[in-house]
Amino acid sequence: MPQFFVYYVVFHGMPTRPTNIAVLGSTGSIGRNTLEVIAASNGSMKVAALAAHANTALLLRQAQAVRPKAVAVTDPAAAGRQDWSALPKETELLVGAENLVRLAADESADIVVSAIVGSAGLRSTWAALEAGKTVALANKESLVVGGPLMTELARRKNAHIIPVDSEHSAVFQALRAGRREEVRRVVLTASGGPFRSLSLEQLAQVTVADALAHPTWTMGPKITVDSATLMNKALEIIEARWLFDLRADQISVVIHPQSIVHSMVEYRDGSVVAQLSPPDMKLPIQYALTWPERREGIAEKLDWSRAMELRFEPPDFERFDALRLGLEAAEAGGTAGAVVNGANEAAVAEFLAGRLGFDRIVPICRSVFDNHNYIPDPSLDQLFEADGLARQEVLRWSMQSV
Ligand code: NDP
Ligand code: MG
Repeated sequence: MPQFFVYYVVFHGMPTRPTNIAVLGSTGSIGRNTLEVIAASNGSMKVAALAAHANTALLLRQAQAVRPKAVAVTDPAAAGRQDWSALPKETELLVGAENLVRLAADESADIVVSAIVGSAGLRSTWAALEAGKTVALANKESLVVGGPLMTELARRKNAHIIPVDSEHSAVFQALRAGRREEVRRVVLTASGGPFRSLSLEQLAQVTVADALAHPTWTMGPKITVDSATLMNKALEIIEARWLFDLRADQISVVIHPQSIVHSMVEYRDGSVVAQLSPPDMKLPIQYALTWPERREGIAEKLDWSRAMELRFEPPDFERFDALRLGLEAAEAGGTAGAVVNGANEAAVAEFLAGRLGFDRIVPICRSVFDNHNYIPDPSLDQLFEADGLARQEVLRWSMQSV
């Protein structure tokens, strides 16, 4: 054994192999934050693979920086337009959506970061769980659409789903303070979005630019719109229901405009355990990657030398029907989550394309949900079918409203 190795082990302990991480959705807001966390990990984490949809220029730059084993592009047209000659020699280029599943299950990855937006992220989350991987889950749609099937698969394969969503990361952390049967309820915090105090007439005038300016978080466009309609909180209620195996009546929502308390667990003796930190996704991302350990990190810290106010107020269920929709879908289970999510994705896309008013997004989702053909115990294919039908329904409504 070389002498320097013996010295190293005596002074530093046995060197551990870096954790290999596949980042699916690496060009998005969560994906970019994940790469920052990995870059600051002093070599304890390494990128195994990257995947993106169409932003090939950024994907190429990321590949040059981290030299992964493979990169996948799901939009073949975008891949065809890019000059890949500067791709590192050791990096394999994969083109087509089917490669997401391959990367998610590949033996080179210990952890798969599921950070694709929308139900497009579902199959790769599924493949990672099927391969028994730890999934750092940002793609809440995986649980909203396929909750019972995903959690059952994870159980069967001994795979872990570690939440990246800040509220769920907070609950996940607060749950370590007590036993499962001692939990009375979970309280999800919501910033309330930028339009908390607008009148119904003013809500009808909201433009795409208004909806994309979130007061406390910088995120991708779809989730930013979801935060403004409170549909993001609806999806998070459904996500929490499956992730933590709760009944819908054990999930409450409170408006907390500062986004410092990321969520709470109330125990049966009345104790409430909360997780606090400045609004910075690097913290929940890092916790998902280092769990069950905590390490030094680059996320912003709270400054206790300055006065700070934390405000909580009950949400207005009349103004924000999305919350009721979320609770109803969480209680119904079955195809309900797939329908709410599919309808919302289609409605947000129509709004971002300028074809649907902001104040129409939630009512359309409500109508599609109330009229859908509910299946209590669907297969994965039936969930995809329900998702597709919900989208078609929204397009039909959207055409009628112009
Ligand atoms: P972004 O829109 O910023 O990024 C989305 C990523 O997914 C990009 O890498 C994009 O590639 C890729 N992508 C888009 N469509 C497809 C597709 N059809 N197939 C494969 N890849 C695709 O989203 P965010 O990072 O904001 O959100 C990602 C997920 O994390 C969402 O589910 C969101 O709800 C969740 N989340 C996000 C939070 C945040 O702070 N941003 C907080 C909590 C949860 P390309 O760039 O090439 O188009
Ligand atoms: Mg969240």
